[in-house]
Amino acid sequence: MITVFGSINLDLVVAVPHLPGAGQTVSGPDHQTFPGGKGANQALAACRAGAPVRLVGAVGQDAFGPLALANMRAAGVDLAAVRTLPGASGLAFIGIDAEGENQIIVASGANARVDANWLEGHLSNEDTLILQGEVPFSQTKRAIACANRAGASVFWNPAPVPREDFLPGLDAVDTLVVNESEVEELAALAGIGGEPDAFINHFATDTRRVVVTLGAKGVKAGFAGDRYQVASPAVRAVDTTGAGDAFCGALAAALDAGTPTLRALKEGAAAGALACTATGAQSSAPRREDIHRLADQIV
Ligand code: ADP
Repeated sequence: MITVFGSINLDLVVAVPHLPGAGQTVSGPDHQTFPGGKGANQALAACRAGAPVRLVGAVGQDAFGPLALANMRAAGVDLAAVRTLPGASGLAFIGIDAEGENQIIVASGANARVDANWLEGHLSNEDTLILQGEVPFSQTKRAIACANRAGASVFWNPAPVPREDFLPGLDAVDTLVVNESEVEELAALAGIGGEPDAFINHFATDTRRVVVTLGAKGVKAGFAGDRYQVASPAVRAVDTTGAGDAFCGALAAALDAGTPTLRALKEGAAAGALACTATGAQSSAPRREDIHRLADQIV
C-alpha cells in the first residue's frame, strides 16, 4: 500500500488581462476552483494508476476543506487519516494573464501544522511512503524516520527543495525523484555539477534509486550499477501542470507493486505525458489502462 504524507490545497484561479503590481487591483471575469497541493495530487495520481492509497495530512475547519478533498474521495483514496484542524485550509490564489504568465500566493493553512506522529500505525515493511516539500521539513524528516522504523520504502520528491541542508538524511531515502531545476539546487548544495548524469552518478547507490525528470526529453535514472534512460512519448501537450505529480504517482504505484525499475519508469513517463494532454493538475491524472497502453509503446 502507498501512504502519502503531504499537502492538500484548494487552488483559486482567476484569468486576468495583466498581472497586478503592488497596490493594484486587476479584475477578471470569473474564477475557477481546483483541488491541488502536491501531496493530494500525487495521492490521486497513484490511486488512478491502480495503487491502494492512503493520504495523511490536514485541511482546515472551513468551507474549502471538503472541496480540496473531493477528487480524492471520488477516486477512492483512503482519507480516514486526514485531520480537520481549527483554522484555515491550504489555499493557492493564482492569477493567470493573457500570455499564460502566473502569479501565485499560497496560504499554507493546515499544511503548516501536520504532524508526522499521525503516521504511527499506518506503515509496514510492505508499504511505500511518498513525501514532497510542501509541508514543514521538520515533519518530513520525522516521517522518513518513522518509515525507516517500520521498514517501509521511502519515495521522496523534494519539491520545493527544503532550505536547510538535508543531504545527510538522503541515506534514509529509497527513491529520490527530482526535475531539472531541483537537480541544479541540490547539486549546488552538494558542490557538484548540475548535469543529470553527474547528479545520478553522485547520488545513486545500491539502495537508493535516483530519478531525474527532463520534461519532454524524458527521464534518466540510476540504481546500483544500472543506468536507465526513457524517452517521453510524443503527445500534443496543452498544459504541463501536474506532469511531475502524475509521473511520481504512477512511478510509485508501479514500484510499490514490485514492477522492475525500467518498466516502472516507462509507466511514470507515460503518465507524465498523458497528464500534459489535459488541463489542470488533478483532472489530468491518467488512469491505469491508459498509462499501461502508452507505456507498452515506449521502446
Ligand atoms: P515537473 O512537472 O516536476 O517540472 P517535468 O516537467 O520533468 O516535471 O515532467 C515530469 C515528466 O512528465 C517528464 O519526465 C515526462 O515523462 C513527462 N512530461 C513532461 N512534459 C512533457 C511533454 N511536453 N511531453 C511528454 N511528456 C512530458
